[in-house]
Amino acid sequence: MAAKRVLVTGAGGFIGHHLVSYLTRQGYWVRGADQKRPEYGDTAAQEFLVADLRDPAACTAAAEGIEDVYHLAADMGGIGYITAQRATIARNNTLMNIGMLEAAQAAGVHRFLFSSSACVYPHHLQTDADVSPLREDDAWPAQPEEGYGLEKLFMEKLCEYYASDLDLATRVVRFHNVYGPLGTYDGGREKAPAAISRKIALIEDGGEIEVWGDGEQTRSFMHVDDCVEGICRIMESGYGKPLNLGTDEMVTVNELVDIVAAAAGKRVRKRHDRTKPQGVRGRNSDNTRLREILGWEPRIMLREGIVPTYRWIAAQVTPQPAERVAEPQLSPMAV
Ligand code: NAD
Repeated sequence: MAAKRVLVTGAGGFIGHHLVSYLTRQGYWVRGADQKRPEYGDTAAQEFLVADLRDPAACTAAAEGIEDVYHLAADMGGIGYITAQRATIARNNTLMNIGMLEAAQAAGVHRFLFSSSACVYPHHLQTDADVSPLREDDAWPAQPEEGYGLEKLFMEKLCEYYASDLDLATRVVRFHNVYGPLGTYDGGREKAPAAISRKIALIEDGGEIEVWGDGEQTRSFMHVDDCVEGICRIMESGYGKPLNLGTDEMVTVNELVDIVAAAAGKRVRKRHDRTKPQGVRGRNSDNTRLREILGWEPRIMLREGIVPTYRWIAAQVTPQPAERVAEPQLSPMAV
């Protein structure tokens, strides 16, 4: 039997690159599409389309002959970037999302998965560090993150409409903070685990790093191996409504720093900068529905997953020739 042909958009990015590797290992024929090829290591995709997916013609070319679409391409970054670039982000993502939905529908693809975000959840439910975990139904009535979160919420609705009105089988996955090797770690688009790993890699034992806010803001963090496995399980599940994909292991940013410091084997002093954006005060994933639908949830603990992540970032910022693009593996115990 011929291998199933699938498309991963955003295949030059962090999660997309890992997803392509995972799908090819499962025996799929994969086309990657992105405006750039992966920065760290070559892609495993059988075909790679370098194109700007804001252009509808590029979306059409990407979807041609494809059975399933994993739509991950997005203009995004950490809290500093998404709070400073709302117009650009909302415009770019709206163009890409509508273009890909239209192209998928026109090409007659079977299934379309959209990578949404915990940024769709209302601000007023995330004002305490000791936050109640967020359930899927909490997204409405809406008060999402301006720009990036609002656009994701709109695309979630578009997926619902294309499913009900146009018979496109859609999946909507709300990722909660994904980290791991081969992700952006500098340049302003990196997220907290990568930024903190980079800062700690660059100091001596006992040195000081800057932490945004007072560090008591809370989050949960999911290792990218759990993320790609969850994506594929959700695609197969037949479940079309939004689903959280994250861990419910909530930590403060100060605790995250301590966990990275332990992985690095360094003592670290924290200098808090309260003028820097810190996003919502508290956020955690309620995985009740995920467990009901999949009988599975992410299981890599932050303390385990951060070790290969830190080592990979440390090797990038203090390069050793042989380590530059090597991808550290989790130990079998960790998964
Ligand atoms: P990433 O930035 O590493 O990957 C996104 C990719 O999209 C990049 O390679 C980028 O080049 C590509 N892209 C952007 N604009 C494009 C354009 N005009 N044409 C073609 N390609 C374009 O981000 P990621 O962390 O891999 O995130 C993947 C998806 O998951 C995104 O939709 C993101 O919003 C979502 N998400 C990620 C997280 C996280 O913690 N990483 C959390 C919530 C949601």
